[in-house]
Amino acid sequence: MNGNDIRQRIDENNKKIQRALNKFVLTDEINKLMKENQELRFLCEHEFVDGVCKYCDLPEDFYEE
Ligand SMILES: [Zn+2]
Repeated sequence: MNGNDIRQRIDENNKKIQRALNKFVLTDEINKLMKENQELRFLCEHEFVDGVCKYCDLPEDFYEE
């Protein structure tokens, strides 16, 4: 393995690390948004149209008075 091989390998690994980090951030962001949606559903005064709340997308089956 010469210097060029090492350079190429390190560049490849850095790209993979960057990709993994991006994915992690995205997952974190998605979790945050999903949690916020859940909190919004608690606040929502549901109005169901065709079995789904038109404000928060809660399925009517999941709703209990
Ligand atoms: Zn709702």
